[in-house]
Amino acid sequence: MDQVKSRLRLLNAIMADVATLSCARCSKPANLQCPKCVELKLPREDAAFCTQDCFKASWSSHKSVHLKAKQSNGAGNPENEGWQYCLKKGQGRTPKLPYFDWTGTLRPYPISSKRVVPAHIDLPDWAADGIPKEEPSSDLQRVVEIKTPDQIERMRETCRIAREVLDAAARVIRPGITTDEIDRVVHDATIAAGGYPSPLNYHFFPKSCCTSVNEVICHGIPDARKLEDGDIVNVDVSVFYKGVHADLNDTYFVGNVDEESRRLVQCTYECLEKAISIVKPGVRFREVGEVINRHATMAGFSVAKSYCGHGIGELFHCAPNIPHYARNKAVGVMKAGQTFTIEPMINAGIWRDRMWPDGWTDVTADGKRSAQFEHTLLVTETGVEVLTARLPSSPKVYPWLDA
Ligand SMILES: [Zn+2]
Ligand SMILES: [Zn+2]
Repeated sequence: MDQVKSRLRLLNAIMADVATLSCARCSKPANLQCPKCVELKLPREDAAFCTQDCFKASWSSHKSVHLKAKQSNGAGNPENEGWQYCLKKGQGRTPKLPYFDWTGTLRPYPISSKRVVPAHIDLPDWAADGIPKEEPSSDLQRVVEIKTPDQIERMRETCRIAREVLDAAARVIRPGITTDEIDRVVHDATIAAGGYPSPLNYHFFPKSCCTSVNEVICHGIPDARKLEDGDIVNVDVSVFYKGVHADLNDTYFVGNVDEESRRLVQCTYECLEKAISIVKPGVRFREVGEVINRHATMAGFSVAKSYCGHGIGELFHCAPNIPHYARNKAVGVMKAGQTFTIEPMINAGIWRDRMWPDGWTDVTADGKRSAQFEHTLLVTETGVEVLTARLPSSPKVYPWLDA
């Protein structure tokens, strides 16, 4: 009863207050307030609306203020929540293993606090609040940019740094190391080079790289799990430096890996090599998927469909969208000066995937293993330049490259 009374009092207070405010959408006198904003005690000016219609019409843009608030105050702030399990984007953390119909033997482990980025590092526009601003509404989601010589030079520099960062991660991979420790190596090496780890807080992603173990197709979150002898692990590194992004990944063997997994990883490596070999001006983007599918299916494997190669530059993800599977509907042809990634994910079993409760980790639906390789590429007048190519200093971890 007391609760009902205080509720009524609260409601009256809200109604009275609202009278002096104007609608956040149309500026007419406000009659109601977003209940979520009231609950979160957010600024009343942004929470007032004239009618339900105006409130509903603003919802898709308005709701982001709730996420922002959760991120920046207490609950949901990763900096206050070390070593807990990650929940779906922006929904904070939990101390208990979430319920899920796990598809394989891998499970999530708790994740560490958000890593600190020193003040002298240039930040992408999502670093502070988790929301990319320029990227979603940019024209470059439709048109494929032809990079200027200056942009290309900056891409070369950033891609070389990203390669060196990934190589630093590769050198520490062994049974017993946690993926969180790999993330620390990636984070520290990126910052030491003067760059920002692009994944950090991108759509609220909590870590500085992706680590995808065994049945994880992509976007695994570095956590407290120790790598085990026989695992495979993909490390996906992206760096923001001098205003442009670089993106690459490799899949590594942990200790002694079974024959089937070695075959899967080598086949995936070859899929990327074969795809790169067709890149030159005039080639259709949709051809990439045909080449990859042919090689993967010949080996008895399947191609994951949920994630694609992407344009990259001043934006982390933009046009073109490049599927890795056959009979895809990608439009357009390659032109000199374009920069994009190709990043096939090849599954030992079926192509279908499932998403873990963290909203990031994408796993195979049958729990069988998946491997991936990725490069950032530049289309040249005569062919292709692999901007993230291995260096003479890169660790020698693939037997088929030593022969
Ligand atoms: Zn990547
Ligand atoms: Zn990528």
